[in-house]
Amino acid sequence: MSTPTTATQRHPALAHWPLQDDTLIVGGLPLPQLAARVGSTPFYAYDRARLADRIALLRRALPPEIELHYAIKANPMPALVSYVAPQVDGLDVASGRELRVALDAGMPPADISFAGPGKSVVELEQAVAARVLLNAESPREIRELARIGAALGIRPRVAVRVNPSFELKSSGMKMGGGAKQFGIDAEAVPALLSEIGRLDLCFEGFHIFSGSQNLRAESICESQRKAFDLAVELAGHAPAPVRTLNIGGGFGIPYFPGEQPLDLAPISDNLHSLVDAARTSMPQAALVVELGRFIVAEAGLYVCRVVDRKLSRGQVFLVTDGGLHHHLAASGNFGQVIRKNYPVVIGTRVAGGEREQASVVGPLCTPLDLLGEKMDLARADEGDLVVVFQSGAYGYTASPHLFLGHPAPREVLV
Ligand SMILES: *Cc1c(COP(=O)(O)O)cnc(C)c1O
Repeated sequence: MSTPTTATQRHPALAHWPLQDDTLIVGGLPLPQLAARVGSTPFYAYDRARLADRIALLRRALPPEIELHYAIKANPMPALVSYVAPQVDGLDVASGRELRVALDAGMPPADISFAGPGKSVVELEQAVAARVLLNAESPREIRELARIGAALGIRPRVAVRVNPSFELKSSGMKMGGGAKQFGIDAEAVPALLSEIGRLDLCFEGFHIFSGSQNLRAESICESQRKAFDLAVELAGHAPAPVRTLNIGGGFGIPYFPGEQPLDLAPISDNLHSLVDAARTSMPQAALVVELGRFIVAEAGLYVCRVVDRKLSRGQVFLVTDGGLHHHLAASGNFGQVIRKNYPVVIGTRVAGGEREQASVVGPLCTPLDLLGEKMDLARADEGDLVVVFQSGAYGYTASPHLFLGHPAPREVLV
């Protein structure tokens, strides 16, 4: 499906990036100079100032009592995680490797939590030894934790990840409600809580996460309210007071033409009322919001170079050295139902004198290798740099680098 944009109705994401002589300035450098500094294309560039702005935006908008966590699977680049860590209240990890990145970043173990189905025995041991909070996703994990804790002489910290009976409405990826591999069904939680009480485990609270990429504030508020009510109900069965209640995230960002940035005001109002309610119903609980995409996506660009300019039956194809093997999401193959174009420009000719309709493709032998279909772009030639915006989340590590054996992209923090 083609979704052409014109120079005059450009994507709001572009407004945040400075231009000089129609060339994008990234990290204080004109894009070609940044490409020279990086040494090769394609690459991802993540902007520190934009990351700090996003976190500051959240801090201004959300009640001060809300703890803000960064879910590092959105972008686990070690330098980026180290930069973000001191600015947030916690890091959420989803693998043993992410746990090492979070610890290396200097985040205190008290402020790291580990979620994800199918944690291996080794991962559970790593997490117990590191003294991070484990969001348990099955009775097996609870039993393993008790065994590992006894063996290591450490009392494991555990929260129960709950699979609620509700879903996050209009969410890009549903991760709660119905039958799911994530968490423990709400109706099975009371029995598990009594088992936790019988074992030598330190119960700390609940984790109720239900989705991702939601641009409707109302549905985020609704799922946060429902998560809170469910936690209050389950707390009645808990072996100890709830000290942490992670009500998930799901905050989306605008990718496609017509999408509007998420309105944080109603979410803030709603969280204020939940903070108030928690004072009586869960007085010891910290309320946690965990976000990945919202913090990092807009701070990242993917840059590739035009290798060939081709004309096929009247249509222009800019064949680049980048593609779906580096940026699966921009190709439309990471959870999208209908393929739409990410915002794309020619980095040295953003407005451009001469414009044309062109498709941006990669070097892979598959028609899926499409970064922009029939877009309105400045006329580009071999050697020009193509920029894909909104690329800071689920890019580098969410893409199949080995497919066709081209070199991996580089990553820089600017
Ligand atoms: C993926 C994930 C997140 C982050 O989701 P975003 O949409 O990137 O904000 C948060 N929590 C858990 C448990 C996750 O699995």
